[in-house]
Amino acid sequence: PYALLAYCRPGFEPECAEEIADRALAPGKFERGDGWVVFTPSEKNGCQKVLRDLLALNLIFSRQTLQVHQRLSLGSKDRLTPIVDALKIQNTVFSDVWLEHPDSNEGKSLSGFTRKFGDYVAKAMTAHDWLQPQASRQRLHLFFPAQNEVMVASRPVRATDWLNGIPRLRMPSDAPSRSTLKMLEAILVLVDEPERKFREGMTAVDLGAAPGGWTYQLVARGLKVFAVDNGPMKGSMDGHHQVKHVRDDGFKYRPKNPVDWLVCDMVEQPIRIADLIAKWVASGNARRAIFNLKLPMKKRHLEVEKCFALIDQKLKKADITYKITAKQLFHDREEITCYLTAVKD
Ligand code: SAM
Repeated sequence: PYALLAYCRPGFEPECAEEIADRALAPGKFERGDGWVVFTPSEKNGCQKVLRDLLALNLIFSRQTLQVHQRLSLGSKDRLTPIVDALKIQNTVFSDVWLEHPDSNEGKSLSGFTRKFGDYVAKAMTAHDWLQPQASRQRLHLFFPAQNEVMVASRPVRATDWLNGIPRLRMPSDAPSRSTLKMLEAILVLVDEPERKFREGMTAVDLGAAPGGWTYQLVARGLKVFAVDNGPMKGSMDGHHQVKHVRDDGFKYRPKNPVDWLVCDMVEQPIRIADLIAKWVASGNARRAIFNLKLPMKKRHLEVEKCFALIDQKLKKADITYKITAKQLFHDREEITCYLTAVKD
């Protein structure tokens, strides 16, 4: 293993690389493709530890991180033999094998090939006894930046892994907006034990709720929602008995009683959103929050750092211990989604 491979949203490679450089605590060189970044630590000694530490992190701008073992150029005829030869050198068993491609236009054109070729690879691996779901927690990932090149990589299997790092979620037919998938993905990816954290009878405030995609996910989990927006709620969320639509300014509104959840999708400067969320949690108005930071500016990584520093400063002052995780979800465009919890889990 000599490098780290990270998948990201195409166009966000600089942020992805910057974040890895920041967290790596060791120098190295970067290579960027369309929708992916490879980081190779410059020192051979301790490289394994640097990579292991990076793999264990929840990075914001990486959809998925993997350890690269080998990189192969492939001819146009027999692509299987070089891969099998590489796996012979590897001499390990894997739980599973996934063939993947970048989320770029060129990458997507490879999806037919990776699907078909995957069957051949799995067959060959089975013949060599390299696929043993009971014996291994490592999944083999064959990443094709192009059809004539492959990175032989692996990572520990996690329940939240998706092929190509892209969750395929079904759009509920009665949800009022597509951004409902953003909240669904946030719940699946960021919140541990969601069935315990979203329960019937809990309360939530949704700031910038209209037309109601986020509210829809909360309502589906049995929560009562104060939906704050000057705009109208639509479809199934308009007049729903679990929803109270409040026409108010999301920056001024405060609940009469503390709520379990604060969610916020207002399109505003990230630092203003961070300040608002910190105030709610510091004052005890909400215990947990899911919020988006819109990042249309250039220095996005820096902007996120500023927002987190502000939250940290405010919550420390209020003597509140908290945890924050964040990710640029698949359903996020120029934004990231954050999960903040002020309670000990
Ligand atoms: N999360 C929503 C959904 O899933 O349907 C979509 C929210 S949309 C991206 C942003 C919303 O924030 C808009 O409906 C807008 O009216 C609202 N908004 C923006 N600034 C606001 C403010 N200061 N107070 C209340 N709502 C605001």
